[in-house]
Amino acid sequence: MAGHVQVIGHPLVQHKLTLLRRKETSTSEFRALVAEISMLLAYEVTRDLPTQPAAIETPLARMSAPVLDGKKIVLVAILRAGTGILDGMLRILPSARVGHIGIYRDHTTLAAVEYYAKVPKVMRDRDAIVVDPMLATGNSAVAAVDRLKRASPRSIKFVCLVACPEGLRHFHARHPDVPVYTAAVDSHLDDHGYIVPGLGDAGDRLFGTR
Ligand code: URA
Repeated sequence: MAGHVQVIGHPLVQHKLTLLRRKETSTSEFRALVAEISMLLAYEVTRDLPTQPAAIETPLARMSAPVLDGKKIVLVAILRAGTGILDGMLRILPSARVGHIGIYRDHTTLAAVEYYAKVPKVMRDRDAIVVDPMLATGNSAVAAVDRLKRASPRSIKFVCLVACPEGLRHFHARHPDVPVYTAAVDSHLDDHGYIVPGLGDAGDRLFGTR
């Protein structure tokens, strides 16, 4: 499991990712596509969640049926672009708890600087899914997971749309126990910390701020 990376090669995810990458894709299309891909990623990333049997009654009979075991999942969005993934995942996991970790990249050093963090008070027995569209340098992801581990959730997974070899190496050097789920692993990082070919600045494309 150490340093596990799962590329979600499902044709629907890949098709939507291609649309997302295109520079002609508008802000509203981009937002909708991120939500759609995130719903599909939520399905994959929750595949191994433990369940336990619960006694229920259907209109016809009593039965034992599976329910998720443990407290509710916590989705942790790295601000600001992670909120795009959060919106989609909450459609599949509507009662998930939500945390936010605000981290910006210092544009000169590319270092991660935390400016905000709020997660549910009690994280024990909760499974955390950290979301950010791009695993680029890996600095923000490492800092967010460092912060989250202080709250001791039962498990942590990291979900992004596009990763690159440099970011994966850096992330797993610090957090080999946290699996990464991504729709793609692209070629490389450029000198400005952007993933190539990537999809540009995910935050700007989601929010139309460019
Ligand atoms: N953040 C982005 O939004 N895009 C990249 O390519 C790298 C970091």
